[in-house]
Amino acid sequence: MSDDKLKNVISHAKEYGFVFQSSEIYDGLSAVYDYGQLGALLKNNIKEYWWKAMVQNHENIVGIDSAIFMHPTIWKASGHVDAFNDPLIDNKDSKKRYRADVLVEDYLEKIRQKIQKELTKAATRFGETFDAEMYLKTNGRVVGYQNQITEIEDKLRDYLENSKLKEFKELIEELGIACPISGSKNWTDVRQFNLMFSTEMGSVAEDSSKIYLRPETAQGIFVNFLNVMKSGRMKIPFGIAQIGKAFRNEIVARQFIFRMREFEQMEMQFFVKPGDELTWYENWKEKRIKWHKNLGFDEGAYRFHDHIKLAHYANAACDIEFDFPMGFKELEGIHSRTDFDLKAHEKFSGKKLQYFDPEDNKNYVPYVVETSIGLDRMFLAVLSQSFKEEKLEDGSERVVLNIPNFLAPIKLAVFPLVKKDGLPEKAREILKQLKFKFQCQYDEKDSIGKRYRRHDAIGTPFCITVDHQTLEDNMVTIRNRDTMQQERISIGDIEKIVSESVSWETVLANLDD
Ligand code: ATP
Repeated sequence: MSDDKLKNVISHAKEYGFVFQSSEIYDGLSAVYDYGQLGALLKNNIKEYWWKAMVQNHENIVGIDSAIFMHPTIWKASGHVDAFNDPLIDNKDSKKRYRADVLVEDYLEKIRQKIQKELTKAATRFGETFDAEMYLKTNGRVVGYQNQITEIEDKLRDYLENSKLKEFKELIEELGIACPISGSKNWTDVRQFNLMFSTEMGSVAEDSSKIYLRPETAQGIFVNFLNVMKSGRMKIPFGIAQIGKAFRNEIVARQFIFRMREFEQMEMQFFVKPGDELTWYENWKEKRIKWHKNLGFDEGAYRFHDHIKLAHYANAACDIEFDFPMGFKELEGIHSRTDFDLKAHEKFSGKKLQYFDPEDNKNYVPYVVETSIGLDRMFLAVLSQSFKEEKLEDGSERVVLNIPNFLAPIKLAVFPLVKKDGLPEKAREILKQLKFKFQCQYDEKDSIGKRYRRHDAIGTPFCITVDHQTLEDNMVTIRNRDTMQQERISIGDIEKIVSESVSWETVLANLDD
C-alpha cells in the first residue's frame, strides 16, 4: 500500500460522510477529527464488535464507563505526571517537529525492508529449494543488516529508558537521518515533552485545582477495581473492560486518524493470580489476534511486534501491528503489567486493593494483563482494508468498500425503480417493516446503476429494487455488493437473507474457545 492509497481513503471518507476534519470551516484543528453520518454508524459497529466479544462472550468480564476527569493524584500514581513523555526533536530548516524514537524506528524499518528485498530476490533465484531461515542466518549481507538492527535497538532502548537525550541526538546524527520534508540534517537538541492535557477544575481561581484529561482509559478501571470486584462478586481471574475517550498532546500528529489528539480506546484489564500472568498473556495474544482475523481480511495484514522498550513494570509486552496504507504500525497493545498499577494506587490512596483468595486462604494484589486497542485506528484498519478500486468486466470501474457485512453502516438499501406509479410507496412499505431489524436506507435519486455505485462506495451489502412487477407478484430484485449478482426474491424472504448475512451470532460464535 502507498501514500496514494492513504490519500484516496481520506478523500473517500470525506466525500461519503465517514470522517471530517474537525472545525473545517475554521480551517480545521490539527489532529482532531469528526465522524460523519456513516462514520458514526461504522464506529458504533466496531465498538459493538469489541464489546460483545469481550463482555457478552465472557462471563468473567464486565464493562464499565468511568469519567474522563479523575483525581489528579491518579496520574502521579500511574507515573504519567513524571514519565508520560516523548523525546522530541525539531528540524531547524523545515521547522517540523518529530519524535526522536520514531525517526530511529523508521530508519530500522528501512533496514528491515532491505532484508525483505534480499529474501524475495533469493527466493526467486533458488526456487523451491530455498530455505529462508538458513539464508537469514548465513548470508553475509543480511547478517550485517540484522546486527545493525540489534545494535540500534539496544541503544534506542537504553536512551528511552534512561532519558539519555544527548546520546539520542548523537545517534540520529550518526545514522545520518534527514528530515523527510527538508532533507536536511540540521537538528535541534532532543527534549522531553509531557503528553497530558491539563485544565482547571473549580469556579473561582483560588479554589481551582489542576486536573488532566485522561491519556488512557485504563486508570479508570484500576481505581474501580475494588468497587467492581465487590459489587459484582467477581472471582479471580476476571476482567474489566471499558470504551472511552482519551487525550494526548501528540508531538507528531499526522497520518489522519492514526494519531489523534482526542481519540477513543477500548481497553480491558484482566486480573489474575501472581505467577499466572504469562500464561494469560499468551492466552490474550491468541484471543485478540483471533478477533482481528475473524474479520476475514488478508491474514498477512497482521503481525506481532515484541516491545523493545519494556516498561519497568511490565514483564512482557507486544503490539499487534497492522498493514496500514503507510505500512505496518501499532494497532493494539497487549501488556503484562504485573501488580504495578494496583500497588501504586494502594500507596498513593492508602486503600488496600487486594483480593482474598478462598482457595489459598490469603490476600494478594492481583497481577494484570491488559489489552488496549485504539478505536480510531481500528476504524482506519477496516476502512483501508475494505477500500477497493475495481475494474469490471465491461471495462467500467467502481469503488467498493468490502466492509464485513455485520460492520457495514447501512445493511440494506431500498430503491423504487422510478419515482412514480406507486413504486415509492411500495418501497417505503418494505422499509417500514425492515427498519426495526437493521439499518436501512431509502434511495430514489438518479439511475439504478448510480444508486448501486453509491452503495458499493459506502459498503452496503444488499440493495433491493422495487419495480412494476413487484406490485403484481410481491417479488423484488436483490443485488449483492461483492458478487454484484442480482436475484429475484419474494418480499417475505428479504429479512431472512439479510439477517443471516449481517448476523452477529456467527461472528461471535467463531470467537468462542
Ligand atoms: P504509539 O506508540 O503509536 O504512540 P502507544 O504505544 O503510546 O502508541 P498505548 O499507550 O499502548 O499506545 O495505547 C493503546 C492503543 O491506543 C494503541 O495501540 C493505539 O491503537 C491507541 N492510540 C494511542 N495513541 C493514539 C493516538 N494518538 N491516536 C489514536 N489512537 C491512539
